Amino acid sequence: MKNFINEDFLLQTDAAKQLYHEHAKKQPIIDYHCHLNPEYIARDHAFDNLGQIWLEGDHYKWRAMRTNGVAEKYCTGKDTSDWEKFEKWAETVPYTMRNPLYHWTHLELKTAFGVDKLLNPSTAKEIYDECTEQLRTPEYTARGLMKKFKVEVVCTTDDPADSLEYHVALKEDGFDIKVLPTWRPDKAMAVENPAEYRAYVEKLSEVSGVSIRRFDDLIEALRVRHDFFASVGCKLSDHGIEEFYAEPYTRAEIEQIFDKVYGGKGLSKEEILKFKSAMLYEGAVMDWEKGWTQQFHYGAIRNNNTRLFKQLGPDTGFDSIGDFTVAKAMSRFFDQLDKDDKLAKTIIYNLNPGDNDMIATMIGNFQDGSVAGKMQFGSGWWFLDQKHGMEAQMNSLSNLGLLSRFVGMLTDSRSFLSYPRHEYFRRILCNLIGSDVENGLLPASEMVFIGEMIENISYNNAKQFFNF
Ligand SMILES: [Zn+2]
Repeated sequence: MKNFINEDFLLQTDAAKQLYHEHAKKQPIIDYHCHLNPEYIARDHAFDNLGQIWLEGDHYKWRAMRTNGVAEKYCTGKDTSDWEKFEKWAETVPYTMRNPLYHWTHLELKTAFGVDKLLNPSTAKEIYDECTEQLRTPEYTARGLMKKFKVEVVCTTDDPADSLEYHVALKEDGFDIKVLPTWRPDKAMAVENPAEYRAYVEKLSEVSGVSIRRFDDLIEALRVRHDFFASVGCKLSDHGIEEFYAEPYTRAEIEQIFDKVYGGKGLSKEEILKFKSAMLYEGAVMDWEKGWTQQFHYGAIRNNNTRLFKQLGPDTGFDSIGDFTVAKAMSRFFDQLDKDDKLAKTIIYNLNPGDNDMIATMIGNFQDGSVAGKMQFGSGWWFLDQKHGMEAQMNSLSNLGLLSRFVGMLTDSRSFLSYPRHEYFRRILCNLIGSDVENGLLPASEMVFIGEMIENISYNNAKQFFNF
C-alpha cells in the first residue's frame, strides 16, 4: 500500500516520477485566471486564522458541508466564529473521501504548512492552532504566500468600470510578482434587468468620461476603459456566459434595443440574444486590436435554489452544470471574427464534460498558423477541476488537437491557498504522460523532448502565449 500524499502522490510510474521531479516541479506559476482580491495583495493582507482563509467564500466546501448535514450558519453564518465553522469543516473532511476536496485539503495542509496529519475532529484543534500560528508570520501574508509558491504572474478578474486602483498601486509599489487585471464585461451585456443595466451604464459613463446616450456611445465608453485596462498591463478578457451568442443583427436593431432597455423597458428573448451577440462581437474585436487573449467560461446554470439565492446571493454554492447546445453558435461566432480577420487568441472553457470533444474539434477549425495553439481548450474548470475532469480534458485535447501546445493550468480561485492546484495538475499531467512512456505508447528514447513538453505545459507555453 502506498502512503497518502507523499512526494510521489499521483505519480504511478518511474517515468511519471522523473517527469514531475525533474521537470514540472521546479517551474514557477503563471496563474492567468483567478478571482483573488487585488486589494488583499496591495495591502498585503494578513489572515487571522485557518478557518478564515479556508472557508470564507469557498462555496465548494460549503456545498460539501451542507451535503454532510451541516447547518447553514456554519457555512455562511455571520454570527458563527471562524473556529466553529472550521470545526464543522473538520467533521466533514473524512466524509469527502473521493471528492477532490479531500485531496486539495491535505495537499494544501502539506505544501503550505508542512502538516502531514489528516484533518478530522480529533486533529482539528491541533491543526487549526498550528496553521493559524504560521499564518500570523510574514511568510503567510497574501504576498508571502504568492512568493512561497513561486508565483510569477496572476491575472485577477475585473469589471470595466473598476478603478484598478490596487493594480496601479502594486505597479508603483514595485511588487515583483505581476498582478494584472482581466477585462470581464459581463455587466455590460446583462440587459435582462433594465433598471440595473441603466445604473451600470451610468457608472460606466462616469468612469469613462463619455456621455452615453446611444449604443455607439456605450462602445466608445467601453473602448476608453479597454485602453485604460491595457495601460495597467491587461492582456486578457474573460466572459462568463451561459451559451455562445451569434444571432444575426443589424446596427439599427442594436441601437433600438439599447434605447429600449436604457429607457427602462424589458426586452424580448430575441432582443436579448441579438444584443448579447453584438456585445460579444464588439468586445472580441477590441481584444483582437490589442493582441489580447479572449476567454469564454460557459455552460453553468446559476442560482438554482431561489430560497437560498434570496438569502445568500450569487456564488454561494447553488450552481450546476447546464446542458446547452452551443456548437452552432460557437462556430458562427468564431467564423464571423475569422472572416473579418479579427479573431484574437482564444481559450474556451466548458462546464459540461459532454462538450469536451466538441470543443477540442471546434478549436481546430480556427487555428490559422499565426500562433502555436492560437485556439485553446481551457483546463478542466469548476466542477471539472479534479483528476477525472483534467484527464478527460487532456485526453480529448491529445486525441483531437495538440496537447504539447496547451497553456495549462489556472486556479480560477478566490483563495491564496489554492496554488497547490498547479502542483495537483502537474502531477496528473506527468502521470498521464509517464504511463504512456511506461506502456510503450510514447518513446522512452524521447525523454528529453517529453521533459521539455512537460515544462512547456507547466509554464513556458503560457508565458509565451500571453506575452507576459
Ligand atoms: Zn473565473
